[in-house]
Amino acid sequence: MGDDLSVRYRNTILIDDDGNRHLGDFLIHQDGSWSNSNGDEDVQANLNGKHKLLTRTFQNWHTHLAMTLNARDFSDGYPLQKWLEKAIFPTEAKITPDHVKFGVRAAAAEMIRTGSSFASDMYFYPATAGKVIDELGIRALLGGPVSDIALPSHTDAKSALAEMDDLLLNNHNSRVNYSIATHSVYLCGEETLIQARDLAKKHDAVCHIHVAETRKEVADCHEKTGMYPVQYLDSIDFLQEGTICAHSSWVKKDEMRMMAERRVKAVHCPTSNMKLACGGTLSLPAYQEAGVDVRLGTDGSASSGSGLDMRVEAKFASLIQRHDHWDSTILPAKDIFKLATKDSKDWAAWNLNDIRMNPIGRSSNRHLGNLIFSGADCLDMWVDGKAIRQDGKTLTLDETQVIDELNQIVYSYYDGVE
Ligand SMILES: [Zn+2]
Repeated sequence: MGDDLSVRYRNTILIDDDGNRHLGDFLIHQDGSWSNSNGDEDVQANLNGKHKLLTRTFQNWHTHLAMTLNARDFSDGYPLQKWLEKAIFPTEAKITPDHVKFGVRAAAAEMIRTGSSFASDMYFYPATAGKVIDELGIRALLGGPVSDIALPSHTDAKSALAEMDDLLLNNHNSRVNYSIATHSVYLCGEETLIQARDLAKKHDAVCHIHVAETRKEVADCHEKTGMYPVQYLDSIDFLQEGTICAHSSWVKKDEMRMMAERRVKAVHCPTSNMKLACGGTLSLPAYQEAGVDVRLGTDGSASSGSGLDMRVEAKFASLIQRHDHWDSTILPAKDIFKLATKDSKDWAAWNLNDIRMNPIGRSSNRHLGNLIFSGADCLDMWVDGKAIRQDGKTLTLDETQVIDELNQIVYSYYDGVE
């Protein structure tokens, strides 16, 4: 094994997809696989892996990347509906592709710095976001927003769907893909949801939707349709394999079984639910019992309590599940790490030469616990055999420049608002 795009880490610790630990010399291949190294393969880089921990990268399944523009205490203290209607939507009414470009660059800088290589996003101007993500060398599934209220990018759902039809038809990039982001049952009428579903089917794509985030959403949906949100979405055949259901907090057990049957993804966003005081979050044991594919996401960095830092999101997922269920056995470090990195094809190297990553335990068994509960610095990141970050420096962007750009663009975005 080995080719000139593989990378060798010598004398290191590698955690595999199942959270098991391996010690020695390893090759990281361009296709994302790994193998033991015997030391004589052709490689693009031969690195000293001492004091490094190699793991899969984090995968963030629910974001609004360019909302980095609204980070991090933007209208802090508002509940969800007021926060959307009084703060977020009026500000976003002025958003342009340029805002999105610099917002996504800043978001990606934070993702790479904190060890995430993939975001499943929902935000305006997905084609602009896609170009930025592609240039930075990471991965994304970018959901173009579809809604029955006028959006800054589109006057109606029909033109938003037409743009997605075009993007899905013409995209041939394996790292950057597109989804259809039907915002929620409260912003999308039945006709729009059905058209989005049909468009997804046409392109073998998926829809991304906020589901049962608050009790108000559930009560309103029940009043309007006589059904709870998941039941309602299933009644119009909206739930397809891979449909991304963000939050999925206020969901009954029979709805969870429905989600498992339809093979959708439920995305746990614990810090956003806590920050907006939604009063509840997804119950992981119930979802696991139903057999639903659960992922983890930060939400946009304005509502998230972790920014876009999946190390923090993973910690809070573990804490709130244990707290809510009075059960300290839920989500030990290995399990929360598997949940937060599920399906990752990429690699991160974390700095072990850090007090937060020590002690390592008698049998070096505390690495993942230290990483999740104390945090560590991401030194290297590899995506498709390409170095995105090396020795604590991101290679595909200049972080200082991104900080300057972000502050300048935010100044113009808010037009005098702090
Ligand atoms: Zn969201």
